[in-house]
Amino acid sequence: MAQLMGQMMQMPLMISSLITHAARHFGDTEIVSKRVEGDLHRYTWADAELRSRKVAQALARLGCRAGDRVATLGWNGYRHLEIYYGTSGSQLVCHTINPRLFPEQIAWIANDAEDTVLCFELTFLPLIEKLADSMKSVRHFVLMTDRAHMPASTGIPKLLCYEELVEAEDGRFDWPEFDENTASSICYTSGTTGNPKGAVYSHRSTILHAYAAALPDAMSLSAQDVVLPVVPMFHVNAWGLPYSAALSGCKVVFPGPHLDGKSLFELFESEKVSFSAGVPTVWLGLLTYVKQNELKFSTFRRTVIGGSACPPSMIRTLEDDYGVTVIHAWGMTELSPLGTLSKLKAKHFDLPKEQQRHILEKQGKVIYGIDMKIIDDNDAELPWDGKASGNLVVRGPWVIDSYYKGPRSPLVNGWFPTGDVATIDADAFMQITDRSKDVIKSGGEWISSIDLENIAMAHPAVHEAAVIACRHPKWDERPLLVIIRKPGAEVGREEMLQFYEGRIAKWQIPDDVVFVNEIPHTATGKIQKLKLRELYKDYKLPTS
Ligand code: AMP
Repeated sequence: MAQLMGQMMQMPLMISSLITHAARHFGDTEIVSKRVEGDLHRYTWADAELRSRKVAQALARLGCRAGDRVATLGWNGYRHLEIYYGTSGSQLVCHTINPRLFPEQIAWIANDAEDTVLCFELTFLPLIEKLADSMKSVRHFVLMTDRAHMPASTGIPKLLCYEELVEAEDGRFDWPEFDENTASSICYTSGTTGNPKGAVYSHRSTILHAYAAALPDAMSLSAQDVVLPVVPMFHVNAWGLPYSAALSGCKVVFPGPHLDGKSLFELFESEKVSFSAGVPTVWLGLLTYVKQNELKFSTFRRTVIGGSACPPSMIRTLEDDYGVTVIHAWGMTELSPLGTLSKLKAKHFDLPKEQQRHILEKQGKVIYGIDMKIIDDNDAELPWDGKASGNLVVRGPWVIDSYYKGPRSPLVNGWFPTGDVATIDADAFMQITDRSKDVIKSGGEWISSIDLENIAMAHPAVHEAAVIACRHPKWDERPLLVIIRKPGAEVGREEMLQFYEGRIAKWQIPDDVVFVNEIPHTATGKIQKLKLRELYKDYKLPTS
């Protein structure tokens, strides 16, 4: 018998459809940006869509052809948003580069991706003046500013002005339709080991991820939201918010480079922000500022925190002191990035508050589209009992299949090995216990560095904490706690170690504490364990 086929329209999932949807149905909804130049810029989704078309025209005029990579070094702002849509929408590939990387890495990445155009903000002019010569494939350098802010002289030959390029176009351009599996954007992983690797997203994967991210058990976005993405647009496409916000018709507030507590708080208040997302380190700064100045948020109600483990103490402070619900999320560049988020199931409503909190501290349940399991070193699946911890592997339509120019697929039996170690409980809540490289192996037993960090963070005198493995003659490795104290706070080694008593098994308590003024972070705000381990590689534990 002949197979009966579905009789629905065949419409490829195109990124341009997100912004045309936003422009048609939420045309007067605002996009507000704090600019590098210092002022506040406002316009609407309709304006953004028109200018994105002009960006597409301008890039075509510069000679860009389907598949060409256009790089950005930009903050969160409306011009960056226009480049997102103007490139992907016209079959170019938007390559967001993380400006916090080392200069040599930035040049390496641009060369690896064979970027043909580089659009960058005023902040990075001195950097690009140094790097321009080493970016071999870049034919055009575009400064993301207006004529008035263009430098009088610069070491970059034929530097172009973004506003001049955009204003020269008439916007008479139709978004093309093409294969939804076409590449739309590239993000490089932070490269904690070896050179960074490119994850190449497609139109299809981006739209499916944008749908999923907006779901009630994920970011729960709607046209009633005012969204402020603190997570940078150069880090996994700001967790997809520029797409999900268009899909949902949210008002968007971009903070530009102004991410200090005061600037953020003022923007949250003046623009009536309801939802935000970012890594834990950003909230440390914001929370210190609101506490010191005895401030409260008037409209801010929900935030997604992820990128590294969110300390339970931060979840509590945000909820109890400021009325902000924290949704703890886990993801990776290779997952576009969202994998799991922590939201209760209906059956949890009757549990006592403390038990609910323990559930919400986990990294949470998958969103539909992602599947996960934990396996041992022989690839055998481990039980979902909340106790067995193993290598977390995932699959789904927005999980990478291979890296850009990658010779071999990273998949093992069709699953992507995340490099994270996790437990999964009977309710399907996943909890990351460590990166496989960060886990501390003491006498053959594993100690979770995240558990130890979370306990330290609960101490009122601790601003930031990191735990690393230190060599030990008897136990192989033992935990060393590295701490930054809060300004003016006092706490010594003994008190800190005593704080662990009763909170964790005795043999897991760190062997020593070092107090520092700074903990190194990666370009995406994660604690740089590799660097810390290097710094303390000859550290002599009192127990050794
Ligand atoms: P990136 O690709 O730079 O976003 O880094 C992904 C990695 O960050 C993951 O593999 C985890 O090790 C870590 N990570 C992300 N979110 C969390 C979280 N909520 N808790 C613990 N680790 C996280």
